[in-house]
Amino acid sequence: MDKFDVVIIGSGPGGYIGAIRAGQLGLKTAIVEKDKELGGTCLNIGCIPSKALLTSSDHLHFAQKEAAKHGIVIENARVDMTTMMKRKDKAVKTLVSGVRQLMKTNKVTVFEGFGTITAPGKVSVKSSGGDMQEIETKDIIIATGSAPIELPFAKFDGQTIVSSTEALTFPEPPKRFLVIGGGSIGLELGSVWNRLGSEVTVVEFLSRIALGFDLELSNLLQRALTSQGIKFHLETKVTGVKLVDGRVLATATKGDEEVTFEADKVEFDERKRIKVDAHFRTNVEGIYAIGDVIAGPMLAHKAEEEGIACVENLAGKSGHVNYDAIPGIIYTNPELAGVGITEDEAKAKGLNVRIGRFPFRANPRAITNEDTEGLVKFIADAQTDRILGAHVLNHSASELIAEATSVIEFGGSSEDLGRTCHAHPTLSEAVKEAALAVEKRALSILNR
Ligand SMILES: Cc1cc2nc3c(=O)[nH]c(=O)nc-3n(C[C@H](O)[C@H](O)[C@H](O)COP(=O)(O)OP(=O)(O)OC[C@H]3O[C@@H](n4cnc5c(N)ncnc54)[C@H](O)[C@@H]3O)c2cc1C
Repeated sequence: MDKFDVVIIGSGPGGYIGAIRAGQLGLKTAIVEKDKELGGTCLNIGCIPSKALLTSSDHLHFAQKEAAKHGIVIENARVDMTTMMKRKDKAVKTLVSGVRQLMKTNKVTVFEGFGTITAPGKVSVKSSGGDMQEIETKDIIIATGSAPIELPFAKFDGQTIVSSTEALTFPEPPKRFLVIGGGSIGLELGSVWNRLGSEVTVVEFLSRIALGFDLELSNLLQRALTSQGIKFHLETKVTGVKLVDGRVLATATKGDEEVTFEADKVEFDERKRIKVDAHFRTNVEGIYAIGDVIAGPMLAHKAEEEGIACVENLAGKSGHVNYDAIPGIIYTNPELAGVGITEDEAKAKGLNVRIGRFPFRANPRAITNEDTEGLVKFIADAQTDRILGAHVLNHSASELIAEATSVIEFGGSSEDLGRTCHAHPTLSEAVKEAALAVEKRALSILNR
């Protein structure tokens, strides 16, 4: 077999997007995947199935709790779990087969099997049937992602003590669902099962949920989710989990207090990484690593950008990832989105900043949508007015954050955004207004 320019181990968003870019750049490229399907965690057991269930359960929430406000009477809205799960699986299948097609069109050779680096420039692939194949290559990129880690006192049993993977496929809503960890995955899956009828409790070691996001907006999100019925126990450390008659008894400490939680299913989420330099080089020449397997936020789009930058460097270009402009999103309802620094980070770094806020209750489109929860917040440098951070809490925050991300990427100011014409009536006008609020000149609220 001819020697490849680059072999990528792992076909998640980091691996398959890197492979596409390598193909575009004319590199002779191979990708190795141990699982039956391409697409990695994101497409198979992460972003895509979780968003499919979030959308479906959000429609149920609308039918049961919101439709009547619009004068729409929906009696006995109920769930057909089989159809809901089938729709989710179909979305996954469509995207996964799309990745296989993209490998073909970009002339990427796919090797099915477990990849092992036997020496620099050499990868052996063991197929599920046990056949071995050696591949030679100039460079190797490790894009093997991450997997949920068990806590020593709570081994996953796939039935009652589960990772997010099983929590995406419960055949029925568990009566009581205990989520250990108030990060994005726990909050999203907690939301799904809460909307579908489970009693959901989130236990978090820290004094807040949604670590990494702006505290003010995280607290507002917690309030919104509490009003939807999710129970939160913060500053609570789970110390033991045992099964009693098919149910879970979790023990925890909250300050000096011992507390117990009873549930029918428990979900855990934790992980670990490889060291690389700014060009994704590991300590071995010719071996690189990208995505969830290295440091940084565990996000599909961060993995993609790293895959592209790493391959561009291999092709002699100047690949680069701007880590200050990587949005993070929690797809609850309302969604929480953030990019750049938070207000607390600005304070901790002693930065001189100005803050602009605008609530959706003053946004005409949010009013017509009967969806006025949340706000937009900008953090701008006090001297230069450059936007350093943007945060949105809204049903459509995941879409609205893109505009702020572009402005940050271009090094833009709040004035740039405030002077940009936004269509009326749109939610994005709240983004413009928050930018204007940095200079205390928002148009539809009192500027204090
Ligand atoms: C429930 C859930 C929801 C999520 N939602 C979002 C979201 O909404 N937005 C977002 O940005 N991120 C989300 N994520 C995170 C996102 O899925 C990851 O950040 C992303 O998949 C990381 O991409 P990656 O390419 O680094 O690795 P992965 O997607 O994990 O892919 C790694 C691939 O490598 C393969 N592999 C591993 N070892 C080998 C080997 N030795 N040989 C061959 N193949 C191997 C694996 O089988 C896998 O296919 C979510 C994650 C979960 C679990």
